[in-house]
Amino acid sequence: MRLLEERIRKDGVVKPGNVLKVDSFLNHQMDIELFNEMGKEWKRLYSDVKVDKILTIEASGIGIAAIAAQYFNVPVVFAKKTKTINLDGDLYSTEVKSFTHQTVYNVVVSKRFINAGDNLLIIDDFLANGNAINGLMDIAAAAGAKVAGVGIAIEKGFQEGGRELREKGIRVESLAIIKSMDAEKGTIEFG
Ligand code: 5GP
Repeated sequence: MRLLEERIRKDGVVKPGNVLKVDSFLNHQMDIELFNEMGKEWKRLYSDVKVDKILTIEASGIGIAAIAAQYFNVPVVFAKKTKTINLDGDLYSTEVKSFTHQTVYNVVVSKRFINAGDNLLIIDDFLANGNAINGLMDIAAAAGAKVAGVGIAIEKGFQEGGRELREKGIRVESLAIIKSMDAEKGTIEFG
């Protein structure tokens, strides 16, 4: 998506450790006009697919998923990050390794909000190694829901997550795919 690529080029900052900082428009300050265009684009890409609910993960996924949901006219459920292990059995729970913080945390979704047979569109801001998306897919599987597709704002194509998901037959639509980026030179290439 041209608009997002241009914005990343203009305002994205490449940090050491393969981290792209986009906090001026995507995951701290949020450019809602841009989010609207992203929502429309996911709707166009997934117009052939039945979507009952959007599933995302806190915190950065929530804003983009909420705006996108207005084009799909469906609710958004976000997985919550927690340190506590739940023993009540009323939650779907899985472990996710954090890309940015290098820790492992639990993510949970109440069993009330995902049902067997639901068609889910999973949305998140970044796809790197795929841990966050795989965690959400674990939760979908535990609920007996189907993953109609995955919508990513920025995929770092030089990391493994996207390739592995597509190899498993999961449809992944990323609005910008970064082929390479260099923290020293400050360059970003799309492809
Ligand atoms: P993964 O689980 O695919 O390895 O990483 C995706 C998650 O880590 C996303 O939810 C996102 O919040 C975070 N993340 C991964 N790479 C980046 C990055 O380059 N910049 C930022 N800001 N977040 C990232």
